[in-house]
Amino acid sequence: MIRLFVPEPLSAGAEITLPAEQAHYLSGVMRRAAGDEVALFNGADGEWRAVLSEVGRRGCRLRIEQCVREQETPPDLDLIVALVKRSRLETIVEKATELGARRVRLAVTRFTNADHARVDRLRAIAIEAAEQTGRLDVPEIVQAERFDRILADWAAPRRLMFCDEVGDARPVIEALALAPRGEPWAILIGPEGGFAAQERERLRGQSFVTPVTLGPRILRADTAAISALTLWQAAAGDWVV
Ligand code: SAH
Repeated sequence: MIRLFVPEPLSAGAEITLPAEQAHYLSGVMRRAAGDEVALFNGADGEWRAVLSEVGRRGCRLRIEQCVREQETPPDLDLIVALVKRSRLETIVEKATELGARRVRLAVTRFTNADHARVDRLRAIAIEAAEQTGRLDVPEIVQAERFDRILADWAAPRRLMFCDEVGDARPVIEALALAPRGEPWAILIGPEGGFAAQERERLRGQSFVTPVTLGPRILRADTAAISALTLWQAAAGDWVV
């Protein structure tokens, strides 16, 4: 069954018109016709079965029939990732969506060599990944922020799992076993050039920071993000029964 994210409120009997791109995908690419069913979600109202009531050159109309899944939200987990090369950033957003991050924040650190990202493009990637992975929400993608501001504005009680490729941090599983439970978390991944010495020092001086190692090898930012999200989900997130 095709799943589509739509911005409209969803309720029984309502009708919506799809924008040109989704209409083309449904009728032109996926060859759906009037009478066929699709699933819709909007991040707030759960998942709904809808029927294509009109397929034409002027677009597709859908009649919303029945709620098939109640809304649910993933654990309160942010991924904060330094701006890295565009293709890696796109991979990171796609995988973070599959792995259940609730928000992706982009950070400008000392050694990032960009100061902005195409957030609209990243949002489109998150929507597509959410449709494919069966999520009922789409992670929020936050425009790039200066890393020192992120730390200065930190809102307790959120904890920060700092993936530190240098030195003596604890292994993730051990660190998470010792950390307080049931609190919001964020995972921090640095840029290709790593964190500057002052940034590492500042991080390690914060009471909300838990530095962790992802093993003895240096990972690319995309591999590090996927590994960290996986380990967090397995140790403290919604993979734990
Ligand atoms: N500092 C390195 C590379 C940075 S890798 C260099 O000079 O080339 C990009 C980011 O991935 C790091 O900042 C860190 O957050 C994360 N990372 C990579 N390997 C890691 C490891 N073994 N343990 C913890 N974090 C790691």
